[in-house]
Amino acid sequence: MKAFAYVNATNEKDAVAALKTDGIALPLAGGQDLLARMKDYISQPDRVVNIKNALDATITATPDGGLKIGAAVRIVDLAENAQVAKLYPSLVAAAGEVGTPQIRNSGTVGGNINQRPRCWYFRNEEFNCFKKGGDRCFAPAGENQFHAIFGSGPTHIVHPSSLAVPAVAYGAKFRLVGPNGERIVDAAEYFTMPTMQNVKTENVLAADEVFTHVILPAPGNVKHGHYEVRFKASHDWPIAFATVVLAMNGGTIGSARVVMGAVAPVPWRAQAAERALAGKRIDEATAVEAATAALEGARPMSQNNYKVQVAKTAVKRAILQAGGIKTV
Ligand SMILES: Cc1cc2nc3c(=O)[nH]c(=O)nc-3n(C[C@H](O)[C@H](O)[C@H](O)COP(=O)(O)OP(=O)(O)OC[C@H]3O[C@@H](n4cnc5c(N)ncnc54)[C@H](O)[C@@H]3O)c2cc1C
Repeated sequence: MKAFAYVNATNEKDAVAALKTDGIALPLAGGQDLLARMKDYISQPDRVVNIKNALDATITATPDGGLKIGAAVRIVDLAENAQVAKLYPSLVAAAGEVGTPQIRNSGTVGGNINQRPRCWYFRNEEFNCFKKGGDRCFAPAGENQFHAIFGSGPTHIVHPSSLAVPAVAYGAKFRLVGPNGERIVDAAEYFTMPTMQNVKTENVLAADEVFTHVILPAPGNVKHGHYEVRFKASHDWPIAFATVVLAMNGGTIGSARVVMGAVAPVPWRAQAAERALAGKRIDEATAVEAATAALEGARPMSQNNYKVQVAKTAVKRAILQAGGIKTV
């Protein structure tokens, strides 16, 4: 590992100040992603800023009936929080399925949402891909079975955070703090699709900003579903998954949010599926129609066509789960 300076920040302001440097400074939370990248020479910061003691590690109620979740909250504490389970069960479902108990014990909400892609070309120092300043994405002509089926490059990573998908589905906002104070960004606007101008990053967070909170609005009269598909139910990231949040109008769906994970470089909102759900009752036919609409426009590569069916099934089962209809 390359030598680095270490700063133990004790509040937001110190954390932001410590991130300002002529070299590369990176925040350290649970360290599971960052330290692995440093050991593999994928990230080589000059300064590591420990933010665990600087950021909020609590979950508190907001005046409008929602919740505010500090970035330093551990994933296990999110997964076991009764208030979150009551208001946002899909977020708790996602948190409870992240990795293993050890990963959930040390991983934080902020670290999970800001973790870098799991693409095996990005994670291997031998492959100088776009994300590391190289001249190509190796996925289209290479081993792409776990890569994106939506988006047209230039990189084909899938967004890695399980928590980001329900955050977008619940209409969360993220609080960020930088040298000029705080800003609040819609979760749906936080994650960015790759472009040649913006190929090395995955979100709008600036190098001298920290991510401090997830702010969830009051859920209202909604039904929720979350369904993840993994190989052999292992501890690894899901192959594809979906969160649906259905705002009910009596017995029918008033409006819907359908968001898929592990299919695109960002949590992928399926607006065609949302339109297909509006005004309908929750039943098998509606779920199939919406799931089919969700995968319209998918552009699988040579080895990941199977993901289209897997994602379709995840959407369908998440909708049926929201309706309390047994799926398997
Ligand atoms: C075997 C395995 C299985 C896994 N399965 C899943 C899974 O199913 N779903 C899933 O979502 N994840 C999964 N993970 C990933 C794991 O959950 C994340 O690596 C972990 O949550 C990261 O949190 P951390 O606090 O350790 O982050 P860190 O490693 O400390 O930070 C991660 C990144 O975010 C940045 N960062 C951290 N906090 C902040 C902040 N507050 N503001 C700005 N930047 C910040 C860091 O600089 C770093 O680049 C898995 C990991 C392993 C090893």
